[in-house]
Amino acid sequence: MSPSKKFVFITGGVCSSLGKGISSASIGLLLERQGLKVAMMKLDPYLNVDPGTMSPYQHGEVYVTDDGAETDLDLGHYYRYTHSPLSRISSVTSGQIYDAVIKRERRGDYLGKTVQVIPHITEEIKQRIYSCFDQEKGTQVAVIEVGGTVGDIESLPFLEALRQLKYDMREECITIHVTYVPYLEAAKEIKTKPTQHSVQMLRQIGLFPDFIICRSERPLSDELKEKISLFCNVPREGVLEALDVKETIYEVPLRFKEQSLDQLLVKKLSFPYKKTALKDWENLIKKESKAKKKVRIAFVGKYVSHQDAYKSILESLSHAAIQLGIDCEVHPFEADKVITEGHLDPQIHGFDGYLIPGGFGERGWLGKILTCRYAREKKIPYFGICLGMQVMVTEFARHVLKFEDANSTEIDPSTEHPVISLLEEQRDIRAIGGTMRLGAFSCLLKKGSHAEKAYKATTVSERHRHRFEFNNKFRDQLEEKGLVVTGMLKDGDLVEIVELKDHPWMVGVQFHPEFKSRPLEPHPLFLSFLHAASRR
Ligand code: GLN
Repeated sequence: MSPSKKFVFITGGVCSSLGKGISSASIGLLLERQGLKVAMMKLDPYLNVDPGTMSPYQHGEVYVTDDGAETDLDLGHYYRYTHSPLSRISSVTSGQIYDAVIKRERRGDYLGKTVQVIPHITEEIKQRIYSCFDQEKGTQVAVIEVGGTVGDIESLPFLEALRQLKYDMREECITIHVTYVPYLEAAKEIKTKPTQHSVQMLRQIGLFPDFIICRSERPLSDELKEKISLFCNVPREGVLEALDVKETIYEVPLRFKEQSLDQLLVKKLSFPYKKTALKDWENLIKKESKAKKKVRIAFVGKYVSHQDAYKSILESLSHAAIQLGIDCEVHPFEADKVITEGHLDPQIHGFDGYLIPGGFGERGWLGKILTCRYAREKKIPYFGICLGMQVMVTEFARHVLKFEDANSTEIDPSTEHPVISLLEEQRDIRAIGGTMRLGAFSCLLKKGSHAEKAYKATTVSERHRHRFEFNNKFRDQLEEKGLVVTGMLKDGDLVEIVELKDHPWMVGVQFHPEFKSRPLEPHPLFLSFLHAASRR
């Protein structure tokens, strides 16, 4: 490992849900704006090989990379804030580490040795971390976020691997601890003790933080920061405050910069400091606060009660809204609760646009179909993503082609009209993990379509995560009645986009555009959808 390569480790203390991923992504951005080439990585302590098999209630969204890895949603934050390479390499779980070590053991690679957490598991973790630098030439800094909270048994091997890296390359590594500093209403006091204990725990493992980012609902006084500095053995300037942001999470890098984190970081990493330009991010925040025109979007999904289940879609809507200068109000609806006595509940009538996201399984299917029917008949903009596109095709086949039992075979394997079905090559696959159509595929767009006008291109690349596909057997009949195919897989006969003729904006995409939207580069389809909705 060349000594010019640097590492920033980010750990979490006291509790989860502190927005460690957003802090990590913001740190990545500050380093990039110093002209450094950064690679982001997430280490997750659970034993699943990837989050692809977990329920969104457990884990939130599964973020998919170009190379088809199903990863932690923090990679979505990394994508939105930085230009780090993101691939299979960037998302590591204990499951992957143990799987690799055990496979090696079975092959006989450790013959004669007892295979142990130290050194074998930790060595595998270190190799994964080094591989961060192999993704793109010239990478200078790896920002490594450790999932979970210090003190968890399962994250110990990761922290031990970081300790060893720091032992080997003391000058090249820095540790940032993101912690919680609560305010106790009854005592009317902000408490630093949980942070002190969490840092003590980190120190017992052999990791000494260089910075502490204190998440808190109330501003910390200088006195409190000095106290944290003294008790946690961190220089005063290394104690940062991270208050809940008022408007948008895109303020976080600006708040860090105000406290000179950019300058302190590069100094500590021995890079020359240049003034960090963040004008574009500042403008973004200004634009957001000025947005006036309200656009109301009904968002009908299966997991809407979980904040993180549709993270990238909600972010993509907000990126597009900021760019268009509108205030996008997203109204979530549980898909299985939108039907009353066989009809679409009036609560969900009259929105400016309808969005049905990806999903799996039968629950809520009919609610989505009826929502889609309503948007089609009332000529209100509709955006169907992945399952939402399959809903659009099924609804059209049922109510326009009059194939009453039309369905996806995911929902009804014995339907006479399987308008969405499995490909031949998917039929014999039994294993659930990592076996869907995953990752980036090129798509050819039809001239004059909403999609082509939005992208201003004829070939695009988008990421997929699904098993079922549009059934080409029904294509002619559907097209004849006005459900037209406007995007096709470049290298194959798979339908990627459908649109409705004689409707202001009804578009279904088999892929997930939300994985490729950035605050400064909103996704064209989200822009086009919100634009159509705002014209109502
Ligand atoms: N369940 C559908 C499929 O597997 C859609 C998946 C999704 O929306 N990501 O094809």
